[in-house]
Amino acid sequence: MDFDSHLSDVVGVTVHVVNLLTPGHRRGQEYPGDATPAGVAAAFAAEGRFSYRMPSDAEVVEMRGYTDRLHSVFAAVDVGDLDTACLTVNALMADTHAMPVLSRHGGEPWHLHFHAAEAGWAIGSGASMATSLAVVLGGPTADRLGICSASACDRVFADTSRNGTRRFCSVACQNRRKAAAFRSRRRLHGGGGE
Ligand SMILES: [Zn+2]
Repeated sequence: MDFDSHLSDVVGVTVHVVNLLTPGHRRGQEYPGDATPAGVAAAFAAEGRFSYRMPSDAEVVEMRGYTDRLHSVFAAVDVGDLDTACLTVNALMADTHAMPVLSRHGGEPWHLHFHAAEAGWAIGSGASMATSLAVVLGGPTADRLGICSASACDRVFADTSRNGTRRFCSVACQNRRKAAAFRSRRRLHGGGGE
């Protein structure tokens, strides 16, 4: 994938933070989506240059309003409903006042931010995340967003593999699925037992 590297970082942050804050199922278990501000800050830091200060509890609550809608974008692409995905991202960009701003700070070269410098933490982050998905959806790789297809998991992913055949949120889910397929094959052939 030839995303610009800053954009790749932001798509990575979007996937990471949506998965942290969205309640549902994760790798076979119920997941409450109750990440702490420190957990959210760590997700930003883990994805490279796109880093912010530690959010407050209130800011994480505000962010949850955006991540629920961002999750629905991945879900729409996953079922082939690109229209809903794009309209949802447009609404998110409007609501977060997304705007392109070239910025240079912290010794980095000039790079493109997707929100005004003075935007608050949640709205600024939401604007960046929505815009990162807009760039993906507006290009030939729109179908690279998806929802994990393992049982009891609804975590999102952005498929950056060369051939675009990713179906799982994680190696853990890929292995769970392989193990389940192995067990069902064995049952089918009368093997039984574990
Ligand atoms: Zn999964």
